[in-house]
Amino acid sequence: MSTTADLRPHRGRFAPSPTGPLHLGSLVAAMGSYLQSRHHGGEWLLRIEDLDSPREVEGASGWIINSLESHGFEWDQEITWQSERSKLYERALMHLGKTGRLFACRCSRRTLRESGSAGRGTPAYPGTCRHLGLRDQSGMSLRFLTRPGDVCFEDALQGRICEDVARECGDFVVRRKDGLFAYQLAVVVDDASQMIGEVVRGCDLLESTPRQIQLQQALDLPAPAYIHLPLVVARNDEKISKQNGAAGLDDARALGNLIAAHRLLGQEPAKEKDFDSVADFWAWAVPRWDLKPLLGRRKIAAAGAEVN
Ligand SMILES: [Zn+2]
Repeated sequence: MSTTADLRPHRGRFAPSPTGPLHLGSLVAAMGSYLQSRHHGGEWLLRIEDLDSPREVEGASGWIINSLESHGFEWDQEITWQSERSKLYERALMHLGKTGRLFACRCSRRTLRESGSAGRGTPAYPGTCRHLGLRDQSGMSLRFLTRPGDVCFEDALQGRICEDVARECGDFVVRRKDGLFAYQLAVVVDDASQMIGEVVRGCDLLESTPRQIQLQQALDLPAPAYIHLPLVVARNDEKISKQNGAAGLDDARALGNLIAAHRLLGQEPAKEKDFDSVADFWAWAVPRWDLKPLLGRRKIAAAGAEVN
C-alpha cells in the first residue's frame, strides 16, 4: 500500500468523533491545530471520525460542524467522513495480511482481562492467537502483529517519546469483533491518504502514536510530524470530555469561547471587546501563534476559564 505522494508540510486536520457537541477541550484542540497550520500558511482539513456507529450520537456531526462554523473555522477541501472510506481500510488490512502482519483473534474480553497485565492501563495482549493461524470468521477480531523494540518519535512539544509497542500494548486490534475498523487503523490510513504533514492533537493520544507509527511502517506510509497539545483538565485533574459531561459550547458566545480557549493555550491575552467578530479574532491570532508557552506541558487547568 505504498504511496509515492509526499505529505504536505503544515497541512493539519481536526478529526472529531460525533459522540456529542463540541466542548471547551475539543475547541482548544481544534484551535491549536488550526493556528499551527494557518500560522505556517498550511491547509487545514476537517474529518469526521464516524466509524464507531454504536457510540455515535444522532445529530452530533451537525452540531460539531455548525459549532466550528460559528467559531469562524474555515477548512480546505470537502469534509471527510470515515464511514465512506471502508475500501481504503479494507485495502490496508489486505496489505497487512499479505505481509504477515495480521491474524485473527478469538479471545474474549474476559480471557484477556484474566491474562494479567504487562503494560500500563489495559493489559497487553498476551499473543494467545498469534500463531494459531485461525481463519477470519464472524465474531473474531483482526490484530496487527507488532514487532519488539522501541518505537520513538520527536514531538514538537513533548520531546522524544518512545514505546516498546509489542511489550506495552501487544498486538492490537485493527478490525473489531463487530466488523468495524479500529481507530488506530483508520487514523493512520486517513492521515496518509490526506497527506497530513503535521498531526496536532491532545496528549491523550500520545501513547497511541508509537502504535500508529509501527502501523505506518508496516503499511509503507510516511510518518507526519506530531504535536501533542496539553489536555484541558477539570478540578479533579480529569480530562474534560464528553464522557464526563463537559458542557457543549454555546455558539452564540463564540467570540468569548475563542478567547477562553486561546488563553488556555498560553497565548497573548485578549479581551472580547477588542474584536468586532470571530473573523477579526482569527486575523489577530493567526500571526501571533506561538508554541513556546506549551513546551513540555501535558495539562492545562480549565478552572477560571470563562466558557459558555
Ligand atoms: Zn486472541
